[in-house]
Amino acid sequence: MSISLSRRGFLAGTAGMIALHPFSLRAATNQAHLRIMETTDLHVHVFPYDYYGDRPTDTVGLARTAALINDIRAEATNALLIDNGDFLQGNPMGDYIAYERGMKAGDMHPVIAAMNTLGFDASTLGNHEFNYGLSFLEKSLAGANFPVVCANVAKKLGASPREDETLLPPYVILDHTVTDGAGEDHAIRVGLIGFVPPQIMGWDRRHLEGNVQARDIVDTAKAYVPQMIEEGCDIVVALCHSGIGAADHADGMENAAIPLAAVDGIDAILTGHSHLVFPSSNYADFSGLDVGTGTIMGKPAVMGGFWGSHMGLIDLMIERDGAGWRVLSHTSEARPIYERDADRKVNALVESAPAVLASVQQEHDETLAYVRRAVGKTDAPLHSYFALVADDPSVQVVSNAQEWYITQMMVGTEHEGLAILSAAAPFKAGGRGDRSITPMSPSAMWRSRTSPTSTSIPTPCARCASPGPRSRIGWNALPVCSTRSHPAPKMRLC
Ligand code: MN
Ligand code: MG
Repeated sequence: MSISLSRRGFLAGTAGMIALHPFSLRAATNQAHLRIMETTDLHVHVFPYDYYGDRPTDTVGLARTAALINDIRAEATNALLIDNGDFLQGNPMGDYIAYERGMKAGDMHPVIAAMNTLGFDASTLGNHEFNYGLSFLEKSLAGANFPVVCANVAKKLGASPREDETLLPPYVILDHTVTDGAGEDHAIRVGLIGFVPPQIMGWDRRHLEGNVQARDIVDTAKAYVPQMIEEGCDIVVALCHSGIGAADHADGMENAAIPLAAVDGIDAILTGHSHLVFPSSNYADFSGLDVGTGTIMGKPAVMGGFWGSHMGLIDLMIERDGAGWRVLSHTSEARPIYERDADRKVNALVESAPAVLASVQQEHDETLAYVRRAVGKTDAPLHSYFALVADDPSVQVVSNAQEWYITQMMVGTEHEGLAILSAAAPFKAGGRGDRSITPMSPSAMWRSRTSPTSTSIPTPCARCASPGPRSRIGWNALPVCSTRSHPAPKMRLC
């Protein structure tokens, strides 16, 4: 929106008075403030709802992130809204659509429906977009009212990246209008190019082998970015569904944001995949970046958390000269949808955007019915309190189910009768702030866990198993005795 009419620096917003970003205040003639908003790693989280716990939560949901958008747009004269990938998979609503309802040609995927309500300007693919196969991906993307780009996945590799037959357009150039500090409108060409970790070829081999191939992120960028500039891009933004890792480029690296940022011609970089926040103290010790200025290799960068927890913001002060626009200065910020108080209690900072909730209300209700359906009965109580440190009934039942399933699959094949080893991971180990404990009553096994109040299973100390007084200060937030001292557990987390 244009707010050049107001030079007062404040506007009435949904959450009270909105302070204009300094770039919008300061921009002079032929200078403009261009804000880039990022969501990343949404993983189908639209409602602020924990489907595993079957309860509302204030820490997730595009409906909450969306509530930030109006104010954030109002703070800036010009803004673009971009998603950085991993939107199709990652919660029970995603599984419900993929495994239960299905995606026929013409069907709308709920996360796409939610994104359409917000007017996204573009998106890129994350690695999880490939989890349900290429046909599912294609049908899901067909509903998007915005371009989706990915430069380093090809249906057919050419001699160089520019000769690849890419699965999706490698980049898009948005012909956009920006309003300068004098209120004049000008044309600007903003190029958006997308990247995904090439590890998708291993992670989703059964869907991808023989169908697509992936290239190194940095090599692909070096090929396409000059082409984008030849085609008149004033500003090039990398939509990098890849994390912040090593500073030096290694062929095929998964977390390539630092060497990617160093590629000539890239003006700003949106990162993700790691489910962390940049700029933040998470990255204080990394070389090649500056948490204070929010830059990677000197380029403005952001990582907007995950599941809708934050809106990533890159603000560019740009200036127009004879050759187009160039970046004069920049800031980066990740704005949260909630905060934790001194007791680690979560306080929501925004309310849900009703239009976003409404766009997926039906699928949300269907997902609730799906996760509330009983899937079996057990005669013994199940829980996962000790899954990380000892034999555990919740992991055992998964392991037994795997063995049962693969035994059926082997019947009539050359493998029938072979010995079977079944390994299961404690991915819902109990603790972690109470969200992942899996107590189950003896009578019914649910797809989601039953609520803690519906079971009488006591919670013993996580380290010595005594039923005595406990506090929640222990390792990994497991309940441990407050009256004893325990040695730190030996364990490996991955
Ligand atoms: Mn992700
Ligand atoms: Mg990812």
